[in-house]
Order: sequence, then C-alpha cells, then structure tokens
Amino acid sequence: MRAVQVAPLVDARALDRLFDYAVPDGLADAVRIGSLVACPLRGGTILGVVISRDRPSYAGALADLAAVVTDAPPIPGHLLDLARWVSRYYATPLAACLRVVLPPGADGALRREPGGRWRLAPLPKGRRQLIASEPVHGGTARHQAVVGVLASLGRPVGAADLCRLARTTLPTLRAMAERGLLRLEEGVLEHDDPPVLHDRTIPTLTDEQRAAVDTLSADPAKPRLLHGVTGSGKTEVYLRLIADARSRGLGSLVLVPEIALTPQIGDRLVARLGAGVVVWHSGLSVGERARADARIRAGTADVVIGARSAVFAPFPRLGLIVVDEEHDGSYKQDSSPRYDARQVAYRRAAGEGARLVYGSATPRPESWYALEHVTLTRRADGAALPNVKVVDMRTQAAGAISRPLAQALQAALARDEKAILLLNRRGLARQALCRNCGWIGRCPRCDVPLVVHGRPARLLCHHCGYDASVPNLCPSCGSADVIRQGTGTQGLEEALAAVVPGARMIRLDSDAVVRRGELERRLREFRRPGGAVLFGTQMVAKGHDLPDVTVAAVLDADGPLQQPDFRAEERAFSLIVQLAGRAGRRGEPATVFVQAWEPDGRAIRLGARHAVPDFLEGELERRREHGFPPFGHLVRVVVDGSSRPRVQDEARAVADAIAARLPDARLFGPVALHRVRERHRSAVLVRGERAVELALPIREVVDERTADRPHELRIVVDVDPQDT
Ligand SMILES: [Zn+2]
Ligand SMILES: [Zn+2]
Repeated sequence: MRAVQVAPLVDARALDRLFDYAVPDGLADAVRIGSLVACPLRGGTILGVVISRDRPSYAGALADLAAVVTDAPPIPGHLLDLARWVSRYYATPLAACLRVVLPPGADGALRREPGGRWRLAPLPKGRRQLIASEPVHGGTARHQAVVGVLASLGRPVGAADLCRLARTTLPTLRAMAERGLLRLEEGVLEHDDPPVLHDRTIPTLTDEQRAAVDTLSADPAKPRLLHGVTGSGKTEVYLRLIADARSRGLGSLVLVPEIALTPQIGDRLVARLGAGVVVWHSGLSVGERARADARIRAGTADVVIGARSAVFAPFPRLGLIVVDEEHDGSYKQDSSPRYDARQVAYRRAAGEGARLVYGSATPRPESWYALEHVTLTRRADGAALPNVKVVDMRTQAAGAISRPLAQALQAALARDEKAILLLNRRGLARQALCRNCGWIGRCPRCDVPLVVHGRPARLLCHHCGYDASVPNLCPSCGSADVIRQGTGTQGLEEALAAVVPGARMIRLDSDAVVRRGELERRLREFRRPGGAVLFGTQMVAKGHDLPDVTVAAVLDADGPLQQPDFRAEERAFSLIVQLAGRAGRRGEPATVFVQAWEPDGRAIRLGARHAVPDFLEGELERRREHGFPPFGHLVRVVVDGSSRPRVQDEARAVADAIAARLPDARLFGPVALHRVRERHRSAVLVRGERAVELALPIREVVDERTADRPHELRIVVDVDPQDT
C-alpha cells in the first residue's frame, strides 16, 4: 500500500505540517502530486493537497485518504514548488500559500453527496449583466459609430464593455435600444473572453525601442530593468516580447499594479494580440475566474494581464514575465500570505526559465542596483518632458492652491486646456482642531486623528470606520473656534471653485470611485473637449494617457516625507516624476507645479529635474550606509492585543528570542505603534543579509511562542515589508 503526504488546507499554525495517509487501492490511479483530496483529520474530513509520495515518517497504521476531489484539476508541480517557496520565504503557513495557487473556487466547502462522493461546492453561474446585441445600421453619426463597434465585435457583449470600447454611455445605448438600433437585455454571457476590437496597425519602433527589444531579447536567463520615461512607449516594447514568446509557443504574464485603474493597457493588449488574452481583474466572478484559469491551463489563453495575484497564473509553459510600473507598492500583499509579486516573479521566472522584465519611469533603488538597465530616454511622440516649477509654500498665503498655480489654471482654462492636480489626502480636511485649546478629534479606538469627510461634514476614522459628528463646540474647552485643518481632495473642490469658478471639475479618489466603471466614466468626462480640472489622490497619476493637459501640480509634494519610513523620499520623488509624466503628452508645452514646504529637499529638487539616475544613486548611497534594502533585508514582526502591558511584554520576549537565535542580525524596537481597532500594537524590526536566513528562525520563534502566549495576542510576520 502506498502512502502520501498531505498539507491540510486549514489555517492553524498547529496543523501547519504534512500528514501521512495511506492510499486505498481504489484511489491509487487517481492520486497525483498536487491532487486535492478529502482526508480525515481530528475527527472531521478536511480538504488537503498531496505534496509528496515519500515513505511515511510514521511507522504505525495510517488513516486512509477518503477521496480524491476531481471537481478541480491538480495543482501543477511548478506552482506547488512556488507555493512552498512562498511559505518558506515569507514565513507563512503552507495552507495560506497553497490557496493562492488553487484553481478559483476550489477552496470552497467540502460536502458529501448521497453516493458517498466528496465534492466541492458548485461554482456560481456567470455574472448577470446588461448585454448588447443585434446591431442595426441607422441613427445619428454617433449611433452609427456604436453600431459599427458592436457589429465588428461579431457577438453579444456586456454593455459596460461596449461603452468603453465605443466611448459612449449607457443612456446612449438605452436610447439606441428604444430606436431599435440594438438589443439590450439582462443575461449571462456565454463566453467571457474580453471583446476584441482588432487593431493590427503595428507602429514602427523608434531606434531606442528597437535597441531595447534587442537587448531584452538576448540571454533569457538574465532579468532586466526597462527604465523608460513616461510616454516613451514601454508597452510597445512589451508587445514585441509577447509576440516573440507566442511565436515560440510560450505564455506571457504581464503584471500591472491595479488593473482597474489602468483599463487601457488591457484593451491595448487585447486589441493587438486578439483572442488568447485573459484580463484578470477583481471584478471577475468566481465562475469567470475558473473558466479563465481553465483556458490558461489548457494553453488556449497564452497571455494574462493582471494585478499581483496573476503571478500565480497556471501557464503550462511560461516564456515571459513583465512587471510594469515596478515601483508600485501595491505589488506587496498586506494580508497573509504577505508576498511581494515582484519577488515571486523573480523566483518563478528563474524556476521556469522565463524571460523577466521590470519596467518603470521611476524604478526602485532595489531594481536599479540589482538589474541590468535598458533605457528609453525619449518620449515616443518626440514631445519634451514638461517644465517643472517648485513653489515654496512658506512664501504663499494660506490655502491649498498657490498663486502661481492659480494663475496658470486660469490661463489654461481660458484656452480650453486641461489640468491635473494631485493631493494625496482623502476627505474634506485632515483633521478638526480647536484653535483655543488645541483639541483634535481623535478615534477612540485607533489613536489617530479623525478625518473630516462629506457634506454634512462627519469625522471618520480611516483605520476602523469610526464615525462621529463634527462638534459645534470644542468638547474639551467649550470654545466655538473649531476649524478644519489641512485640505483633502473633497475640500479641494471649494478651493478650486474660488480660483476657477464654473470650471468643469472631476474628482478621482477611492471615495468617488466606488462602483465599477465609475473611474472610466470620470476619465471619459475629463477627455471631453474643452477645459477641465482632474483632481484627486495618486489615482490621477496612474498611467492614464490624457490629452490637452498643459498644467499639472502636486499640491503637497513633501507630504510623504512626514512619514517615518526609509522609503518616504522614494515615494515623494516618484509621485512628482509620475505626475509630470501625465502632462504635455501630445507635444503641448506644459508646466508642472510642485508645491512644497521644504523646496530644497533632495526628492523635490531632483524630482523637479526628472533626475532619476541621480536620485537613485544618492538613495543607494544612503541605504548602503544604513544597511537598508537592497543592502540587507528587513523583517517586521508586529504583536497586537487588547492589553498594552501584555503586548509590550510579548514583543520584548519575541525580540529577545529572535536576538538569541540570530546573533548577527540587527534588531530595532520593540516600538509601540498607534492602536488600531482597540488593539495595542508593538513592532520589532529585524535587519539581516538574506531574507531566508531571517525568515526561518523568526518563524520558529513565533511558533514556539504560540504555545506560551495568551490566546488573544496575535503575531504577524512581514518579510520585506513595504511600510516600516
Ligand atoms: Zn478647545
Ligand atoms: Zn479608528
């Protein structure tokens, strides 16, 4: 009788190991490495994954596997290896890492059918949505254009997709349906490949692009960095590499920070590469995901574009991984498993022999240091980078918009041009403050100031959602002098109305863009001819190609520098350069304003000159001095619980235990962090040379302390943290 080792898909550190099971004769043919199985454990039957087929470590009688679950395909060997690597590198229980490589929906509840068969809960049917079909020629010129798009797609499509592709709105589609120009009805689409508007026009590469493609096509084993100024045509370079992989029968994976924020790149890939492209985004239903997953496995889809979780897409043969906008912090997952898709991509490319390209206009110091660079210095349309003016806010009157910026906005709008303003703070105002006694509205559960939001104004906590009214009188001294301090994106609307009354204003932030499609609607509104101001959080700086923008501004450029984080300068710098890249895209002369309280700061000064290499070299020098990445790795261990003394004691004990095991590592802390949701928190930062050498001992410490510590204390380990 054969035996297998199974990892139970159960999230308990105590069960985070492999269990031996005997394989009954009836199952011997069906069991593979990677198979999902039902197995008895602790009195129940749980779902697990077959990891290996070694001799059992236990000499006694083994329990039998109950069944092989055939509703989902086995996990391919290379993904199983990747999950085990993620578990080791990120000091995370294997179950959580196996979940990210499971087929969508395979993690559902296990249930026993009347015949004794074990099955997964069935996947939901496709998503019900409004579907457009049956185009009929006629109507206005605008109607005919929409009819033309629908006809060329050659099949029914979701109304939302049609709106995007035909650059129209739902009311227009409804009006057309009433006139009989198309059919609009609720239903479930039969197939969910993205609709394709073919675009076979292949642009001629610039000399720089050609050289980049050549270099990136050499020696596939060598990962490289494509450093290209915004607008230099990185996507076209990616497209050539994808086409090359496809011609050799290999799949391509294109990672982007947030696909919902940059739908254009997905559309462009689909238009050029046609069928076989999967756009993997959070709006897909489980059923749609499962079908896309099956197509990738079968090889009928060979290009996947998606955010960080797409790094685990089950390609049978992977030829290329592109990590676009590689500087973006959203590649790091902030819940378990806390993996960084950029690091996983590195591992995966090495393991599967795939070419790996990281791309950005503002690369990370880590990538700049470790990778060979390929540079695109010029914009593909020949336009110059915009002129940047730093405004010293100490010389300006109070308010979010300085005088030079106000004048530039007025002039631009008078010429029917557009402007983009970036302010990385949501809400009406940063806080409510009593000018008499200094009282500040604070969250009673999180030790942070409450943010003023909405109309009528409320006080909201960005950590826990706590909500209170803004007091008319100061709760501390009774004074009526309670003011709002520090304008946020909502408050900017008022400030703008005073500067450019009557201008078309479009806000982009996570409060304004809640529903799917809202972002595209707002961007479409901004693209309409005529003057307009787009303003919001860093969402406004993310890869949108917007016409006629002659003024752009970072309103609070040194805001990120107030964070006590070694990446603060990198963030401030990248925000300026990324936003500057949105202006003057079609060759219009443009000006970028950088409003700063410390205009001589390095990030501000060099950002204003687009001096990326200078900034990175200086940043690397500073990091080398302090042993920060890439000259070392960090692991952050956070203890949290309801009692401050217990949290402090535990953090101290964890720090001591780590110090004992890792005598060469440098420890910082424990330091108390602000409370979140009534949980006290304390953090220990560990610095060492190699992440794996830190992760394993730290994990052992955490596991050991599980037995001793009071049950309600939690310990979270974050390897290569983004926030420190
Ligand atoms: Zn007061
Ligand atoms: Zn709170």
